[in-house]
Amino acid sequence: MTIPIKNITQEEQEPEVLCSNCEACCCRLEVVILTDTGVPEHHIAYDQWGGETMLRLDDGWCSAVDRETLMCTIYENRPLICREFEMGSYECRDEREAILGK
Ligand code: SF4
Ligand code: SF4
Repeated sequence: MTIPIKNITQEEQEPEVLCSNCEACCCRLEVVILTDTGVPEHHIAYDQWGGETMLRLDDGWCSAVDRETLMCTIYENRPLICREFEMGSYECRDEREAILGK
C-alpha cells in the first residue's frame, strides 16, 4: 500500500501575515510625525522639545486605533511612517511575533 505524502505548503507552515489576522501590532510602536498629513490635534503628543508623536493610551495602542475594530480612524490623515510601514515586512513580522507570537 502506498501512503500518500502530503505536501506541506509554506502557508501551512506559517500563518499568512495579513492586517486582518493581526491586532494592530504596529500601532503600538512609537510613531514620530515627520510631515503634516493633517493628524487631528487630540491624537498628537508633544515632547519637551516640541517633537510630535502619535499619542498612545494606557493600553499601549495609538489613540487613533478604534478599540472595537482595531482599524485606524484617521486613515486618510495617518502619518507618513504609518503609510510606509509594509504589511509582511521584517518590521511587521517582528511586531507580530513580539505581541501575537505569530
Ligand atoms: S502591518 Fe503588520 S503589524 Fe501592522 S497591522 Fe498589518 S499585519 Fe499587523
Ligand atoms: S495613525 Fe493609524 S495607522 Fe498610524 S499608528 Fe495610529 S492607528 Fe495606526
